[in-house]
Amino acid sequence: MADCIFCMIANHEIPSNVAYEDDRIIAFHDLDPQAPVHVLVIPKKHISSLDDVKEEDQELLGYIMFKIHEIAADLGLENGYRVVSNNGEDAFQTVKHLHFHILGKRKMTWPPG
Ligand code: AMP
Ligand code: ZN
Repeated sequence: MADCIFCMIANHEIPSNVAYEDDRIIAFHDLDPQAPVHVLVIPKKHISSLDDVKEEDQELLGYIMFKIHEIAADLGLENGYRVVSNNGEDAFQTVKHLHFHILGKRKMTWPPG
């Protein structure tokens, strides 16, 4: 979708620090981390929020949930992590493209050195 910053990230039109990517999802480090590890996982398909998930998105949503633990493991979060999704105004959703925050305690290895 035009003017959606996360669609631009998914399309590599603007740079991001990618943690994981395949044909359906991309995970990238949050610009303004609220934890030592803070990664956002998004579908490449534009879905504004959980309120806009359609019947045909069920498998994609399951896939995101399935991949989150693999991405967390790759980030070294063996001792646990939080998964948060802010949806709508009352939840202070600022970017209107569905995303799941992975928040963990392990120190970031980025930037290197
Ligand atoms: P939310 O409040 O759940 O909508 O969170 C949106 C998140 O996106 C915030 O934590 C922002 O720091 C993050 N964010 C916004 N723009 C970018 C960007 N270009 N690259 C990485 N993270 C971003
Ligand atoms: Zn989008």
